[in-house]
Amino acid sequence: MSVMWELPDFDGHEAVHFFHDVDTGLSAIVALHSTHLGPGAGGTRFWHYENRETAVTDALRLSRGMSFKNAMAGLPLGGGKAVILADRNRTKSPEMLAAFGRMIDSLAGQYVTAEDVGMTAADMVELTKQTQYVSGLPVTSQGEAGGDPGPFTAMGVYLGVKAAVKHKLGRADLEDVHVAIQGVGSVGGGLARLLAKDGAKLSIADINKGHAASLASEIGAHVVGLDDVMRIEADVFSPNALGAILDKVSIAHLNVPIVAGGANNQLATPEDGQRIFDRDILFAPDYVINSGGIISVGLEYLGDGDVDEVNSRVAKIPERLTEIWQESASRSLPSAEVADNMARALIGRG
Ligand code: NAD
Repeated sequence: MSVMWELPDFDGHEAVHFFHDVDTGLSAIVALHSTHLGPGAGGTRFWHYENRETAVTDALRLSRGMSFKNAMAGLPLGGGKAVILADRNRTKSPEMLAAFGRMIDSLAGQYVTAEDVGMTAADMVELTKQTQYVSGLPVTSQGEAGGDPGPFTAMGVYLGVKAAVKHKLGRADLEDVHVAIQGVGSVGGGLARLLAKDGAKLSIADINKGHAASLASEIGAHVVGLDDVMRIEADVFSPNALGAILDKVSIAHLNVPIVAGGANNQLATPEDGQRIFDRDILFAPDYVINSGGIISVGLEYLGDGDVDEVNSRVAKIPERLTEIWQESASRSLPSAEVADNMARALIGRG
């Protein structure tokens, strides 16, 4: 591995912490991209990586993504991310979580964690036994901000899809607008239900076939194949499963005027932002459209508003997207690049 500072994804990280706990064997990385706007906030990913280099790259990319996401969501939070290097079976124990909690605590509030892939709300509660720098905890009284961020992310993506349809197709409603959804878990499933209420025509795909089938019969959607969902003719393609799905090959096969979904890091490389722009497809930068969850988690941590405040901030996602699309059109720049430029300016790196 090259020296950390020379890694392509280092991008001026303020700090990258490597932790190891001898007793439990736990290895973890906490990457802090920027604390310019506040403590670095971002979830913990518990994942088995084939090698350590991949884990470092993942932490760096995700941490920078959180810097940009938090800044664009208007939160007084910087960007950070933790990655726990799990074994092949992804064994997790209370002792490991306790060790990880102490690692977070040693950073004295520079990093605030929350749930991400492989971690649960129950794990977050477990971490609070060791540290106060945790968010995404269960709601204890009605109207309080917090709890599962998925529904807030789904709402933000839904509002973003509506804004994209209005911007690109000049349609104020979603009646019969055809949306192809990849992944119908927490975010994609929530999105599908909201779109169905508006009379949208839905094609859905999920590797969990049983789940896709039962959702389809619940809301009247049509199940399509895993490869087809990115190629069928529709008005919107909405990725809500994996990252890095938009590359040279897949972009060439897209048969939609709009790509708008909640999955993180959808563009495989920065050049793919240009590719999608060159095909005249309206792209909603992922960390802007999927910021509903961090708005909830962030306000919960900051103690800065209730669920109504979360909803009113999520309702501003369309405004932000429209601003990006307008600048993208007027400056002839990919929307992803416009969003990155705006985010960098907000974190003092314009
Ligand atoms: P989830 O695990 O609840 O749902 C993901 C779904 O995608 C699952 O149903 C899974 O079976 C399906 N899937 C996986 N691989 C697939 C494939 N190749 N093709 C089709 N379906 C596939 O996760 P989630 O919380 O809904 O998150 C979805 C995406 O949104 C992720 O990229 C996540 O990082 C991002 N995101 C989530 C939140 C949140 O609040 N949950 C916030 C921001 C971003």
